Amino acid sequence: MRDEILANAKRIVVKIGSSLIASRATGLRPDQIERLADELAALRASGRDVLVVSSGAIVSGIKKLQLKEYPKSLPIKQAAAAVGQSRLMWAYEKAFERLGIQVAQVLLTHQDLADRRRFLNARYTLTALIGFGVLPIINENDTVAVEEIRVGDNDTLASEVAHLVDADLLVILSDVDGLYTEDPRKNPSATLIPLIPDITEDIERRAGVSSTFEGTGGMATKVRAAKKVGEYGVSTLIVNGEQAGLLPGVLAGGPGGSLFLAHERRLTSRKHWIAFTLRPRGQVRLDQGAVEALTTRGKSLLASGIIEVIGEFEAGDPVGCLDPDGKEFAKGLVNFSSALLKQMKGLKTQDIQRQIGPQEYEEVIHRDNLVIL
Ligand code: GLU
Repeated sequence: MRDEILANAKRIVVKIGSSLIASRATGLRPDQIERLADELAALRASGRDVLVVSSGAIVSGIKKLQLKEYPKSLPIKQAAAAVGQSRLMWAYEKAFERLGIQVAQVLLTHQDLADRRRFLNARYTLTALIGFGVLPIINENDTVAVEEIRVGDNDTLASEVAHLVDADLLVILSDVDGLYTEDPRKNPSATLIPLIPDITEDIERRAGVSSTFEGTGGMATKVRAAKKVGEYGVSTLIVNGEQAGLLPGVLAGGPGGSLFLAHERRLTSRKHWIAFTLRPRGQVRLDQGAVEALTTRGKSLLASGIIEVIGEFEAGDPVGCLDPDGKEFAKGLVNFSSALLKQMKGLKTQDIQRQIGPQEYEEVIHRDNLVIL
């Protein structure tokens, strides 16, 4: 099973963590970047499409600006990212140029992915680059990304890119070997789990305890990223990127790393985007009848089933749907603003007409824009 998935993965997104290619003390590690470039070039030579999501801008910028510690304030972090990103790209340019491979820099923010038009545009750009045989090297646009528009960590960004380009496999190269049964630093008898068929609560708990040693995301963000793309039919391999030759070996069927198996792709790209890329602006709490209409009868949401409107949002925004107990069970794009919905909630269509006036839509969330989680 594992060998087959790895062998058949034609399009691969490889996330390279900061600690693999840069350190605060010495800045970028060009030898390491060259070695990884060699391995990625070999994957391409075997007929696979490779896209890289690389961290390392901020760490590299810290060295260049001679900062004493990891910056806490946003402007300093952004300044470090700006000087570091060009150095990072320069190192990748040189490393791949030796191998006759052209690279392209692509910087994204959450905003680029949360707007469907921009999302599709990014998809076309990346597909065009791959068509030219260019290797895209993607990072978050840290220099402009303030909190609201940040993806926040590159494990998550890589999972969103894997969906964006319809990848077969997401590879997260890290300074840990994969997911262990226990924290290997505390328990020497911990063993590496080679195949994870399902991301259960138990797996998430294990991920909570075995964190990586440097970088933004620990094991928890990696497992969350795996879960997200798994819903889109993309499997995730977490593997140690420090060990020369390990990645090509694993992809060829050798031991190492942890493979998180994908589910059947049950959502279309658009519905996956609504469910996992968009962030809800607010919520609506529904009565039990509405919950059942949505979950078992595939209906659209009407105002009569809403008991509470939480937060402020505009028409077209993503919102979460809560059951009577407050548990989120669906997400969708809403047709009305929160202000209007507060007046409409609980009302039947005729009463809305009579009390508030004629509306453009009958449905609050149309079933085509609704995803049951
Ligand atoms: N985008 C950040 C950087 O290049 C890294 C974020 C992460 O490590 O997850 O420094």
